[in-house]
Amino acid sequence: MNSEKLSKRLETVVSFIEPGMNIADIGSDHAYLPCYAVRKGLACSAIAGEVAAGPYQSARKQVKAAKLADKIDVRKGDGLAVLHLSDKVDCVIIAGMGGALMTEILTAGKHKLSSVSRLILQPNIAAEKVRKWLYEQNWQLIDERLIEEDEKYYEILVAEQGNPALPYTDITKELLLGPFLLKNKEKNFREKWRAELQIWEKILQELNKAENKEATRAKKEALRQKIEMVREELS
Ligand code: SAM
Repeated sequence: MNSEKLSKRLETVVSFIEPGMNIADIGSDHAYLPCYAVRKGLACSAIAGEVAAGPYQSARKQVKAAKLADKIDVRKGDGLAVLHLSDKVDCVIIAGMGGALMTEILTAGKHKLSSVSRLILQPNIAAEKVRKWLYEQNWQLIDERLIEEDEKYYEILVAEQGNPALPYTDITKELLLGPFLLKNKEKNFREKWRAELQIWEKILQELNKAENKEATRAKKEALRQKIEMVREELS
């Protein structure tokens, strides 16, 4: 992967940028995504935010080498703290980190999102947490993708400010599985959740061997419910 040829995962992420948007890529690492998006004319301008020194330097080098420094501003800082309301960012992208960290970043920088019309989020794990955050913070999930790359599954969530309840009819199940993904139940969806089921079943077996404490019982019950829910959808 490089700034000319993105991974399938990041290519899917950028496909949700609306033409002409000013984007911010938070946790940009090498800045491949903003370089690609600006060079291809998918985004007008970009801010590449990075908290860690090494990736920040590599993003700066990448943007300079691509001769895109007039359109891409590389900023060092924690999450959305690198954004100012005067930046007029329309679209915030956060990709390639866990759902828990992603929601921490979004919560800490909530006040920076007032001008933002679209969020494109690609949690590596715990997409359920991200859907829940969107729902609670009045962001309406408008689309989702589930792709497979190098034997890993990635969920991409797209949200806009709107009616957060709109895509949901059975919220517990759909926060876990994704309302759009559940509707289509494509091959990737079935494969991902079959694999997940196997892991959960092993965990449940281990929990069954553990001491019968209240905390273990609660964990087992929660897991059993999830297993049942997913099995039902795959049957
Ligand atoms: N977004 C790229 C992608 O999807 O390929 C890079 C993903 S990389 C695994 C995660 C990046 O997020 C790392 O470079 C890390 O330093 C950065 N990161 C983690 N926490 C961050 C935070 N609070 N603010 C900004 N960047 C952060």
